[in-house]
Amino acid sequence: KNILIIFGTRPEAIKMAPLVHAFQKQTAHFKTKVCVTAQHREMLDQVLGFFEITPEYDLDLMTPGQDLYGLTAAIITELKPVLEDFKPDYVFVHGDTTTTMASSIAGFYSGAKICHIEAGLRTHNKHSPFPEEINRQLTGRIADFHFAPTEASRDNLLKENIAPDTIIVTGNTVIDALLESVDKVKRKPSTLVNQLDTELKGADLLLVTGHRRENHGDGFIRICEALKTIALERPALQIIYPVHLNPKVLEPVNRILGNIKNIKLIAPLAYHDFIWMMDRAKIIITDSGGVQEEAPSLGKPVLVMRDTTERPEAIDAGTVILVGTNTEKIVQETFALLDNEDHFKDMSSKHNPYGDGAASRRIVDFMMHKQQERLVR
Ligand code: UDP
Repeated sequence: KNILIIFGTRPEAIKMAPLVHAFQKQTAHFKTKVCVTAQHREMLDQVLGFFEITPEYDLDLMTPGQDLYGLTAAIITELKPVLEDFKPDYVFVHGDTTTTMASSIAGFYSGAKICHIEAGLRTHNKHSPFPEEINRQLTGRIADFHFAPTEASRDNLLKENIAPDTIIVTGNTVIDALLESVDKVKRKPSTLVNQLDTELKGADLLLVTGHRRENHGDGFIRICEALKTIALERPALQIIYPVHLNPKVLEPVNRILGNIKNIKLIAPLAYHDFIWMMDRAKIIITDSGGVQEEAPSLGKPVLVMRDTTERPEAIDAGTVILVGTNTEKIVQETFALLDNEDHFKDMSSKHNPYGDGAASRRIVDFMMHKQQERLVR
């Protein structure tokens, strides 16, 4: 059977890499090819390099000022020759990006079965996060197989009348990627992280990331104000913020936080350096989905700058706290973690609800069984 794995952004690449490796090992059963839309370019290429993945197809679609209309149209149009050339039986997509949604539609047009990884996450508000929630809901309608990371995501799909035998709970492949990489990263830190670590001089580290469209504008201004207050009130604390390349993020961050002694603004870190930094951090503040899933495996409390969440498991497990983009709340919850040792210990010692690092194996096992069932019939 022909398997086409399509992705386009950094987080998708990280989360699909273990699956690409797992399928590539099964050459007797599957012919696997990778297609990148390159919705992100530099950040995607870095991950492909780290995981030693060379895509067979590269649509190279990122253009300056790309909007959702142009991107969606380009993905569907440019995938047509790829689908006609490889004729996949199964198209694998991941998560909730424009690449995910548009590739599902294109794959469906080609007659392939659509397999959705990280299926079933929902906020149940189609406008938030924008456009991710609608991307994942639409992909859920189109998909033939739904690989859900948790029981909660399975329940969301069941409530939408998705057939139970098409939903497979696997854990999140992000943990596979993390566990595959973390020892290697710790054994051989890069020159950059060695240098950053020396500059930290043993100080407590607050690691920040943020990129979400829903926070662009006032949200990022309030987030930056909070970080400024934290930095000024706690001069012994060091904040490192790898700033996302989107100009809507870069502008307020540089303007408000550009000149504060204990805030270091740096370019997005390569995945392996970012893992190292997460491990070095005391607390992580983020609006990222992936970071919320990874951090508990490294025992790091996370404050999430979102008002809604499609990851309630993390809140229930006590590994994250939702702080929105409310300046005071961000400051207050950060200080609570810095000042209250018991609270800090409690949050850092919780079990990670997102998996055990065997998600890709479960996905490939399921696909092998499907094949065998057919052969028996
Ligand atoms: N990440 C990275 N470098 C950074 C920040 C994050 O490699 O400077 C990784 C992180 O480990 C996680 C993923 O990128 O696996 C999260 O991506 P992002 O926050 O862009 O997207 P989301 O997870 O919200 O979809």
